[in-house]
Amino acid sequence: MFRPRIKFEHRPVRYGEDRIRIGGDIMGIAAEIGDPEGWVWALLNILDGTRTVDQVLADLVHRFPRLSHAEAREAVDDLIRAGYVYDTAAPPPERVIEAKWGRYDRGAMLLRWMDRTPDRGAWDAQLLLHQSRVTVVGLGGVGAAAAWALAASGVGQVHCVDGDVVELSNLNRQLLYTEQDLGRSKVEVAVEQLRKHNSQVSITGQHGVIDRPDTLWSLAAGCDVLLLAADTPGDIRSWTNRACLATGTVWVHSGYHGPQVHVGLYRPGSGPCSDCGRAARLERDATLPPLTGWAPARGQQGPHAANAVTAGITGQLAAHAVISLITGAPALPVNREYGVNLVTLRGHTVGLDSPRADCPACHGLV
Ligand SMILES: [Zn+2]
Repeated sequence: MFRPRIKFEHRPVRYGEDRIRIGGDIMGIAAEIGDPEGWVWALLNILDGTRTVDQVLADLVHRFPRLSHAEAREAVDDLIRAGYVYDTAAPPPERVIEAKWGRYDRGAMLLRWMDRTPDRGAWDAQLLLHQSRVTVVGLGGVGAAAAWALAASGVGQVHCVDGDVVELSNLNRQLLYTEQDLGRSKVEVAVEQLRKHNSQVSITGQHGVIDRPDTLWSLAAGCDVLLLAADTPGDIRSWTNRACLATGTVWVHSGYHGPQVHVGLYRPGSGPCSDCGRAARLERDATLPPLTGWAPARGQQGPHAANAVTAGITGQLAAHAVISLITGAPALPVNREYGVNLVTLRGHTVGLDSPRADCPACHGLV
């Protein structure tokens, strides 16, 4: 029998006699509730997981005779719909009560805090992570940080793909590798390190360069979420987009341009795809006056400027996006890109409202 309890992470506070804040002070989670008659505060205090909904309503209406049963029921339903409540009667899954799950206590709390999905049990989001398969394409600064974060956070299966070996110039930002690993395959070292970090999850690897779209199709088909953390070959994002559209795989890409870091989240079939966004950028660029590059830079590639901070933030942001797609905690809006400028610490969002009718990748699929 459902016994609702306010999540500890969302525990309410009353200001004075008539104003309540629930969910702390974090935008996107917190809410203010007016309570001139005091019954909302009373309701929140009896939502302690010891009573069924009927018992909660009977108790409340008894204490506040002017309150109708329907009003009280609506208030309880609102709290449930808002994700502030979980069911204490739901027994914890077998795995959770095993001692080894103690390592995820803090992570489960964080997921509960960010989770606004109604009717979730206390460990449901963490369990979703445990049941998921994520493939990380590219184990440079971004992919290595993301794979580490995903394995540590309890993603059940992490598959790592890269064709490079560890070089000295990697060590300022790719923290899975050490001086002892120079010359070794990144995949081999990453799998070894991640298994040492978390032996409770499955870590696998695949050494190989991605030089054709087919490879991405098979990778996308074999996972729940694909994380693209590589930027070569030049078409790899578009290949990934098409592979994920064809297989219905949700995916994330993430990278940096100097101090500008970005992450994109895509759920195929639910809105504009990555190539829709690319087409829109090209169209906008075509309206600009002709550009002339700086002559001394002609023929040179752009700088690959990065350190452990920029690569780490980008990789962690990517892992956060992957966790969002798996658990809905938090439920980040998808089919768009988010950027953070590390010079100003300001963020921005870029995305189209709807798919482009002329998109070569998703036209007819969305
Ligand atoms: Zn598209």
